[in-house]
Amino acid sequence: MLEAKERAAFRKQLLGWFRQFQRDLPWRRTKDPYRIWLSEIMLQQTRVAAVIPYYARFVQRFPDVHALAAAPQEEVLRLWSGLGYYSRARNLQKAAQQIVAKHGGQFPTRLEDTLALPGIGNYTAAAILSIAFGEKHAVLDGNVARVLARLGAIRGDFREPQRWQGLQKNADELLEAKSTGDWNQAMMELGATLCTPRSPQCLLCPVAPFCEGRKLGIAESLPELRKKRATVEVTLAAAVFLDAKKQTLLLPPPRRTKDKTSADHVPTLLSNMWHFPTLSVTGKADGNLFAFLQKLVPGVQSRKWQLVPAGKVRHAVTYRAVTLLPFIIRVRNLPDISGASHVPLADISSLPVSNLTRKAARAALAAAVSAPAER
Ligand code: SF4
Repeated sequence: MLEAKERAAFRKQLLGWFRQFQRDLPWRRTKDPYRIWLSEIMLQQTRVAAVIPYYARFVQRFPDVHALAAAPQEEVLRLWSGLGYYSRARNLQKAAQQIVAKHGGQFPTRLEDTLALPGIGNYTAAAILSIAFGEKHAVLDGNVARVLARLGAIRGDFREPQRWQGLQKNADELLEAKSTGDWNQAMMELGATLCTPRSPQCLLCPVAPFCEGRKLGIAESLPELRKKRATVEVTLAAAVFLDAKKQTLLLPPPRRTKDKTSADHVPTLLSNMWHFPTLSVTGKADGNLFAFLQKLVPGVQSRKWQLVPAGKVRHAVTYRAVTLLPFIIRVRNLPDISGASHVPLADISSLPVSNLTRKAARAALAAAVSAPAER
């Protein structure tokens, strides 16, 4: 992409800018691979500002890989609750257990060993190994790819495998071998703060003189957008039981089915966490939900439950647009369902729950005031 002479000047410019203007982030004050790893996992699909308080709470409760490996999974998920994409937390803990069992609690320094850990792909491995140990691996994620595509005026969908490999080659060539950690962070910082997706701030950019995209006036239109997967609408109905003490009932995380052909997407939409009795519905939501509860609660046929609509909750999970319809069911005693937990409706986060379940609880709380009393 750049000649050897230009590469040296480019590196000097970018590193100088990074060292002067980088954001002061908690995970940049450490070389501890555990904390760097944790921050990289939390930052996947999540904004820096949202991650900071979660990161602080997490390292306070689990200060090292041993503490994380030994913790109950429920507690790990509870501290992750609200960040979304919960498979990240599950994999993080599985990887911590492998680090303790196979590597004596020391984060591996070899790329192959790091890539063998659950939840760690090429980008995350390169980031941890370069920042914590100065290993010579160049990072490439969507942010860095965008910067490289603009610098080289590379057109087309950069997720296309051949193009992605080409960008990785460019990233490897540019890598500053003496400061790989700072270098990788500088590339990420440029993508996160100046070379942003919508309006790159080329006037402030330290490497603007090297940028072909800017020279050609096409920086803003790069990278070229790939076709988005069509949105699929999904409607769910959830039963929010409420007793006189304002307690509600949550079901435990659904067991994963071994049936790979199963089209049941409800557990995924609920992030496989604690949840209200919920099902996917078409047609009459309250009728569907009552039929579902009949199977779930023995003897429900004889009870006179009234399902009171509690508004609508909207939520997006990747390409699915979810509409969840909570129904309040006031009862004298919460039904007896094996494995269920009873918690205050106003405090369901004492268990690990997804954002969707939290939204449903808020809607039900708001509507509960006007819901009729139990019959
Ligand atoms: Fe991005 Fe503009 Fe800098 Fe090029 S000059 S790298 S487009 S911010």
